[in-house]
Amino acid sequence: MAVRKFSRQRQSILEYLMQTTAHPTAETVYLHVREQYPNISLGTVYRNLNLLAEEGKIVRLTYGGSERFDGNLKPHNHFICKTCGNILDLEISSLEHINTLAGVGFGGRVEGHIIYFYGVCEECLKRC
Ligand code: ZN
Ligand code: MN
Repeated sequence: MAVRKFSRQRQSILEYLMQTTAHPTAETVYLHVREQYPNISLGTVYRNLNLLAEEGKIVRLTYGGSERFDGNLKPHNHFICKTCGNILDLEISSLEHINTLAGVGFGGRVEGHIIYFYGVCEECLKRC
């Protein structure tokens, strides 16, 4: 019984993350799923987010000590606005070749990279 309830909540978290491009924090996810599951705790939301991330169903974005979550599993890059703190998706072609660049003259095996682009987003530029 409890297990089924928890997995329904997990499904609801996953569905929310898949339909938003806002890269919400755990607190924002919590405020959203609470509308559907008023008794859910922030701890449960955290636990489900961790499980989903471990299962590879969502992506955890960590920068500057804060955590955001992304339900878009297609390879893409992120832009962080220094003014409003929003994280936006960047539609740019693959940067996979930088793994090769990083491996030049390096004896180990480069398997990946984490890149954040940052600056001021369009909305914030319009406002100033
Ligand atoms: Zn901004
Ligand atoms: Mn994204």
